[in-house]
Amino acid sequence: MKVTLAGNDTQLMNFRDFFKSSLETLKKEHLYRTFVPLERHAKEAPYAKRHKPDGTTQDVIVWCSNDYLGMSHHPNVIEAAKNALNTLGAGSGGTRNISGTAKIHEDLEKTVATLHGKEAGLIFSSGYSANKSTLSTLAQHIPDLVVLSDEKNHASIIQGIRHGRCEKVVFKHNDMVDLENHLKSLPYQKPKLIVFVSVYSMDGDFAKIEQVVHLAKKYNAMTFLDEVHAVGIYGEKGEGLAGMLNLSKDIDIIQANFAKAYGVVGGYIAADQVIIDFVRSHASGFIFTTSIPPATAAACIQSVEILKNDRTPAEKLLNNVAYLKERLRHTSVSMVESESHIIPLWVGDAKLCRKVSDHLLDTYGHYAQPINFPTVPVGQERLRITITPHHTHAMIDDFVDALQKTWDQILLKKAA
Ligand code: PLP
Repeated sequence: MKVTLAGNDTQLMNFRDFFKSSLETLKKEHLYRTFVPLERHAKEAPYAKRHKPDGTTQDVIVWCSNDYLGMSHHPNVIEAAKNALNTLGAGSGGTRNISGTAKIHEDLEKTVATLHGKEAGLIFSSGYSANKSTLSTLAQHIPDLVVLSDEKNHASIIQGIRHGRCEKVVFKHNDMVDLENHLKSLPYQKPKLIVFVSVYSMDGDFAKIEQVVHLAKKYNAMTFLDEVHAVGIYGEKGEGLAGMLNLSKDIDIIQANFAKAYGVVGGYIAADQVIIDFVRSHASGFIFTTSIPPATAAACIQSVEILKNDRTPAEKLLNNVAYLKERLRHTSVSMVESESHIIPLWVGDAKLCRKVSDHLLDTYGHYAQPINFPTVPVGQERLRITITPHHTHAMIDDFVDALQKTWDQILLKKAA
């Protein structure tokens, strides 16, 4: 396609060539994304069928799913979705404002509010949307707001703040001295919002929630905490890390999703009624989009309720994680010690990271997706291992063995 100015022969840009050459650059830099098409069968997790480029299939074990507790396959979650699908239909019928509010949406909002001990909840199509919509709304509407954001915050948080176009300060990751220095430098009366994440998704480390809360009180700041990777797993009822530390009441806005440990999809915030009402009234990403299907809402409620009352899946997951970490400590695989269920295996090079991942998949049938830029900075490439209660010790032993052989063959040989 050639684009020319009307009445002028000058060629401005060949869009097709632009896209092609930009993709070529990505490929050269080993940043081009390829997906592995899988069928994750409900009764066979963590096994899945991989559809290979040559048309054949391969049985693989998945080591990188965010369905941390296997709830997407829980029979009661599936049953709840099926019932709602049969009775309420496939779609919600509209945006929340225009015929798209079902009672089940409001039930789900009450469920998350109760989970976090907050007055109200608000659901969004995804965790990404919950972060982006809420933060951009607050940033646009609160006069003179300054947002203080941890440097390792998720892309959805960064986009939300950017879109809000308010004053922004990025503090060093989990660095309370840096955060306090920034807070100190701002007038006490100036509106401030500290935004952070309870379990950081790529390093698996925990936020210093107690210290952040302390600083927020000292310097008159509001707090926004992303609990996406914590809900379902941590806390007496799966209410996340703030809840586990008995600090939910001290966080102004708790954000999380239903797509990780709850195994479904959708995002939410939980907060005081007045905050929820404000976001509900102003957030474009809430107002101008069709609400989630009733079957999805039903599955979410069921999953939250199951994990509220039965902590066995979370306990089993954390036992498995401890077992895998302990096994890895006795190998030369470059595991990064983490506090949570997320286990990074350091590679530090995009090409090698893909090679390691491909080798594990093609040779041993172990699927662990390479994590490259822009998910992590260039030079910090890694595998990000996440397991489930359904991985057995025998599977873990086999995986550790395959990892050691892969490290020997690809990474350690290169370093020698
Ligand atoms: N927040 C964090 C910390 C995340 O890691 C993610 C996604 O991985 C999100 C938000 C977005 O959640 P969702 O996948 O529901 O859009």
